[in-house]
Amino acid sequence: MAFWYCRVCGLDYDYSPWGPNEDEPSYDTCECCGVQFGVDDYSVLSTQAYRRTWLSKGAKWFYPKLQPTDWDLAAQLAQVPAQYQ
Ligand SMILES: [Zn+2]
Repeated sequence: MAFWYCRVCGLDYDYSPWGPNEDEPSYDTCECCGVQFGVDDYSVLSTQAYRRTWLSKGAKWFYPKLQPTDWDLAAQLAQVPAQYQ
């Protein structure tokens, strides 16, 4: 099964939040960092800016109840696609 990773926080998804060809974003909200796919992550710079803001506010989960008890921020950030790090 293919995995996609949030460009901001690296959370894994089992579908592409940007569409099969990465050009039709779902405009859904990342359950972890709260980025709206296709809006705040439309470019490398906007993605990095969103991540900086998210981290500076304590890297809170957008849906706190979905946060795993053994969540590892550093490990998840390492999954961010290389071109968006
Ligand atoms: Zn995210």
